[in-house]
Amino acid sequence: MKIIIPGEVVTALDILQNNGFEAYIVGGCVRDSIMGKKPSDWDIATSARPEEILECFNNYRTIETGLKHGTVTVIVKKMQIEITTYRIDGEYSDRRRPDKVTFTNKIELDLQRRDFTINALAYNQNGIIDIFGGLHDIKNKIVKCVGHPDDRFNEDGLRILRALRFASVLNFSIDDQTSDSIFKNKALLHDISTERINMEFNKLIMGINYQNIIFNYRDIIEVFLPEIKGLSNEELRYRLNSMKELNSLTMRLAVLLQGLGPTDKILMNLKYDNKTVKTVKILTENINEKIYPDPVNIKRWLNKINSENLVNLIKIKKAMFDNEYEELAKSQVIMKEILASNQCYNLRTLAINGQDLLDAGMPKGKRIGMILNKVLNEVIEGKLENKKDILLNYVYGMQKTVDKQND
Ligand code: ATP
Ligand code: MG
Repeated sequence: MKIIIPGEVVTALDILQNNGFEAYIVGGCVRDSIMGKKPSDWDIATSARPEEILECFNNYRTIETGLKHGTVTVIVKKMQIEITTYRIDGEYSDRRRPDKVTFTNKIELDLQRRDFTINALAYNQNGIIDIFGGLHDIKNKIVKCVGHPDDRFNEDGLRILRALRFASVLNFSIDDQTSDSIFKNKALLHDISTERINMEFNKLIMGINYQNIIFNYRDIIEVFLPEIKGLSNEELRYRLNSMKELNSLTMRLAVLLQGLGPTDKILMNLKYDNKTVKTVKILTENINEKIYPDPVNIKRWLNKINSENLVNLIKIKKAMFDNEYEELAKSQVIMKEILASNQCYNLRTLAINGQDLLDAGMPKGKRIGMILNKVLNEVIEGKLENKKDILLNYVYGMQKTVDKQND
């Protein structure tokens, strides 16, 4: 077996080895390379202690990422490589992270602390180290704990969700014993920090096999997302299926959570960032609204939820509601035309703004906003052309009428 390792990573391995240390690529990059996938990053495990790693790379830029846990990030020709000392994890008394880690000189012990057999592989120019049958499990597409699942999940409950995440992303099934243990130990997820859960869940929901994993392991997802208890199996299936053509996290979350309560609260509890919370809220609030394929109406939508959200809302509705498909496809065409021809649909694209009205002598205050919105409405309805002089004239006209009424 030969893995093609990028030059930067070979340089890092060489430097460590030339200084008398062992060094291997480990974890996800080995797994992905064997599967013929491009690794997202390259991690190195070494017998060198953190201070020794820093010394080996004193001519390179380094970041002391997690010195206590043995990790140094080294930058070789712009590539960030995480180099971690072989370690044995100590007790996980809070079930979140090891209380302390012990460094070791044995790669076998470092591999033994890893979560799944497919992630417990090491490789360098001398070949592969596969103590736990990871190669066999990659071939058979199986996620299986290293050692006894109950023990491993009790050390770190997040591994429960990581198992689902890998099964989804890699399109693997979960080994029977590991799967039984996942159900048995699901409550351990209660003790896991929301940030860690969030990261794994996002990868899970975007994975190739998310449909089967979420459906078959809904009991597990419900531990941190109890709202989906409100969905019948049939409804859950339908939603998961609708999600398949939606290629963003926000759209998938919107479909999953729609109608299950205040999505902003749900997502804030799960520590999603403000933009995701806001976007999903807008999408869920509007999923059941009709979108009529008519330019004035589409402009109103663009003004109400902005173009990016409308693009996504239409995609979601097309995926969910077959009976609206044709109308939505028409709306999509109309929207594209409006956007491509830079037509006015909001205050930002209106040819006049608040300053223009102030310059024209109008007093500061709420009225300016009201007038701009009224003008925008006329433009959207096609009653006024979006030209500055035309709009200003119209405003003067309005002003005169008001003045007359006041006389
Ligand atoms: P990805 O390509 O998604 O980053 P990965 O396998 O690299 O996948 P990471 O979360 O980056 O996953 O972890 C790197 C490696 O560290 C894993 O392959 C695994 O060997 C080990 N690991 C990470 N988290 C844990 C954990 N909670 N328990 C045990 N081992 C872990
Ligand atoms: Mg990784």
